Amino acid sequence: MEKRAVVTRFAPSPTGYLHIGGLRTALFNYLYARKHGGKFLIRIEDTDLARNSKDAAQAILESFAWVGLECDGEILYQSERFPLYASYAKRLVEEGKAYYCYMSKEELEQLRDSQRAQGITPRYDNRYRDFSGTPPSDRTPVIRIKAPLNGEIAFDDGVKGRICVQAKELDDFIILRSDGSPTYNFVVAIDDALMGVTDVIRGDDHTSNTPKQILIYQALNFPIPKFYHIPMILNPEGKKLSKRDGAMGVMDYKLMGYLPEALLNFLVRLGWSYEDKEIFSLQEMCALFDAKDINSSASRYNQEKFLWLNQHYIKACDDIRLEALLGEFGAKLEAYQAPIKSLLFSALKDRSKTLLEFAAQLKEIQTPPQTYDEKMLQKLDSSALKALAELAEEATETAKFKQHFTSPESLESYLHSFAESKSIKIGKLMPALRLALLGKGGGIGVCETLLILGEEQSIERIQALLKYIG
Ligand code: GLU
Repeated sequence: MEKRAVVTRFAPSPTGYLHIGGLRTALFNYLYARKHGGKFLIRIEDTDLARNSKDAAQAILESFAWVGLECDGEILYQSERFPLYASYAKRLVEEGKAYYCYMSKEELEQLRDSQRAQGITPRYDNRYRDFSGTPPSDRTPVIRIKAPLNGEIAFDDGVKGRICVQAKELDDFIILRSDGSPTYNFVVAIDDALMGVTDVIRGDDHTSNTPKQILIYQALNFPIPKFYHIPMILNPEGKKLSKRDGAMGVMDYKLMGYLPEALLNFLVRLGWSYEDKEIFSLQEMCALFDAKDINSSASRYNQEKFLWLNQHYIKACDDIRLEALLGEFGAKLEAYQAPIKSLLFSALKDRSKTLLEFAAQLKEIQTPPQTYDEKMLQKLDSSALKALAELAEEATETAKFKQHFTSPESLESYLHSFAESKSIKIGKLMPALRLALLGKGGGIGVCETLLILGEEQSIERIQALLKYIG
């Protein structure tokens, strides 16, 4: 058989935001296509006109744009293809592979009730399968596929291995409803075939749909793609992922200060691995990914690992991009000269797992302390206060302080000699200075803080603390 060029697709139903599980499915499809130099397509499955919305479809595409997964070709919308699906349904009727069924909803309900009463799984009883009489004139029929009456439907799933379903477990399911709308399994098979999809990678909640779709491929003489059904992402306790665990829309991660490359790296490792490698650029993923390496057991969401990856990518982010990203979190950085900015970035990159944290810490540095840490205040003795006052005085009256605002090292050596000249231990001066500058312990280095604040701000903050203490 001729080998077809790889075509994969992601086929979301636009009922809400794009969930991270969906993005992982899309990523696997994207990578598989890129790895094989094939195509990655997007199809919006919006046949359920009551539940689907244009806004949700737009939100899904916005998520794709944010993470940078580009699709090939036009995005296909199933809602625009109803006439096409109907024509395939009619063709199957003409070929004797599908048929009109005139059973009313009430009759179907009655049948199901009686089957349930007998302890049988409810299923359509094929009553119109070979019908050749005069159809009831008051009913618009549905179209049902003629499913095989015996034998089995089997396929080799790329993740789960061979899957076999007995034909008797499938009934003659509806492919076109009486209102002319097509059903899910029918349109998925038609579209995958017409789009030339060779490999279907999707969540394993769709495993049970596959035999039905295979019947459609067979009836329409379409080549059957290779299927890969990937297990769900579970929470750390092994339960279904919930909002609390982080099962949110992709764009929520943006708002929480995650970088798109961190999200993709996090997702690719949920259900796929390559040796013991953890960090993957998109390029590396494209080169190394193989659908046959997808794990057959469910993966678990690990928030700590996600944060670790995010910090890795924040650290790797160049200053220009970082500034633009932080701008979205309200960070104000225009006032800083380039060397100060890069000092600030490298100090905060080490302390920030998200951009949100980064921007919050920056704001803390930029905002003069409104209160002071009580414990640290109590530790300030008269010698430390005196030294602070003398430092402020030296800074305002001489150029000594100012001329060391060139690097943290220069300020460090100045403060050491200042402390020595005033006979105060550096270990006492530094915490006092930190309290004056930031209002509390912790945070970036004192000399870095001085440089970032600049001479004037630094003096103001020292004076403010002295004033506060009175
Ligand atoms: N529209 C389906 C969903 O969002 C996916 C169908 C498929 O991948 O075959 O779950």
